[in-house]
Amino acid sequence: MKADIGLIGLATMGQNLALNIERNQYTIAVYNRTTERLDEFINGKGFEKNIIGCYDVENLCNTLKKPRIILLMIKAGKPVDDSISMLLPFLEPGDIIIDGGNSFFSDTIRRLKKLENKGIHYLGAGISGGEEGALKGPSIMPGGSLEAWKHVEEIFTKITAKINGDPCCSYIGSDGAGHYVKMVHNGIEYSDMQLISEIYYILKKFLNLTAYELAKIFAEWDKGDLNSYLIKITSKILLEEDPVTKNPLVDMILDSAKQKGTGKWASQEALEMGVPVPSITEAVYARNISSKREERLEASKLLTGPTPQFSGEKSILVEATRKALIAAKICSYAQGFSLLKAASDEYKWELNLSNIAQIWRNGCIIRARFLKQVKVAFQQDKDLSNLLLDSYFSDVIKTSQEDWRFVVNLAVENGIPIPALSSALSYYDSYRNPSLPANLIQAQRDYFGAHGFERVDKEQGLIYHYEKWAPLDED
Ligand code: NAP
Repeated sequence: MKADIGLIGLATMGQNLALNIERNQYTIAVYNRTTERLDEFINGKGFEKNIIGCYDVENLCNTLKKPRIILLMIKAGKPVDDSISMLLPFLEPGDIIIDGGNSFFSDTIRRLKKLENKGIHYLGAGISGGEEGALKGPSIMPGGSLEAWKHVEEIFTKITAKINGDPCCSYIGSDGAGHYVKMVHNGIEYSDMQLISEIYYILKKFLNLTAYELAKIFAEWDKGDLNSYLIKITSKILLEEDPVTKNPLVDMILDSAKQKGTGKWASQEALEMGVPVPSITEAVYARNISSKREERLEASKLLTGPTPQFSGEKSILVEATRKALIAAKICSYAQGFSLLKAASDEYKWELNLSNIAQIWRNGCIIRARFLKQVKVAFQQDKDLSNLLLDSYFSDVIKTSQEDWRFVVNLAVENGIPIPALSSALSYYDSYRNPSLPANLIQAQRDYFGAHGFERVDKEQGLIYHYEKWAPLDED
């Protein structure tokens, strides 16, 4: 029997995607570099299923129907190049390789070009949803060869998550578009997680709430506008008890965050593109500073600050933090979608931002009720330059901003770090402000570097230089 699709890489994602594909009535051939992992899978979770274990890539390729479709679910970087090189001798023109891992988009562009020259179709498909999503239905962002997409559309549409029956997967755009969109998804994920953590910390510090009391608040929020996977898992996490100490498990976890790099890539790309994404970047920095735990412990002995105190009404602060979270979340998504818009123009991907919001509505880590409104906003105006300009979102911020400012003030006055909440507010205030202090920056640039400036009373684009800046007094 020939298999419909092959998969390389049987770690968390690969195993669960294989089971998902098989459950959807396809026969799948699987290979893993380390044989023990393959044996464990085919004799364990994959036992007595339409899953064919292959012990080398030649056998994998010979087991597949033509054109062959091979999905790589392995570590990004060199392993992907190595695996492609290993496959090539056994492939024919028309065969398809899909990289479903978190590859950097420019690697995907490079690989696609190389493979196209050999007649092999290549797709870079970002896949989100973690272990459970991979098994039950992930969100999938495929980009690259349109020809390849035509061959895999049916399988991907079946295995992906659905929202009201519609798939959370559609063709994103040419070459690296799919991996770029996944990278921005992960950037937004970083800022969503950071914002939730800052709100958790504010409530914990000011109201002295236990993890269990906090869990109730997040569970309540999940019933409303903030309904999302990350809020839901936060309420579940806060309920968990450490089996050893019987303390809330979250209180026993070291406050030192790790990262795999996709948030950093999103920030770097945004800098490259000149698109401000402070919420994403601050979320990356927040993980960086958290990981310098030894240094922080030393610094805490020397550096002083206020002790958090709040004497107001608990319910008022809880409601204010809810509104602050919604407003900051809107800004974070506004930044992410602005980056996508700029990348779409730069790389000529013609990204459909409404479809991307649709893909993210289920299956992925940032899935949220709120994305329905994002989808509508870009459906109504596909050229919308910033989500903040959509009337639904500007109205939400109008009704939330007083509370948002209150929460930011309170945290700052009391020495509680809120890099994502406060940078989102500064983003909002910068974006909405008709005048910024950049006139002084231009003057300084002209003073020391004769860089020139435009004038408020002259046509834009005309550059003036002031010849008579007063010299510095001699010391
Ligand atoms: P992973 O830990 O990122 O990678 C482990 C897999 O890669 C194993 O199958 C391993 O084979 C294989 N591998 C590593 N180096 C290799 C090489 N040089 N040649 C061939 N195979 C090699 O696994 P994962 O967490 O399942 O993720 C797979 C991909 O999906 C990654 O790109 C990841 O970033 C992305 N992703 C992960 C998640 C998640 O929640 N885990 C979510 C979305 C996307 P061996 O068993 O032989 O070591």
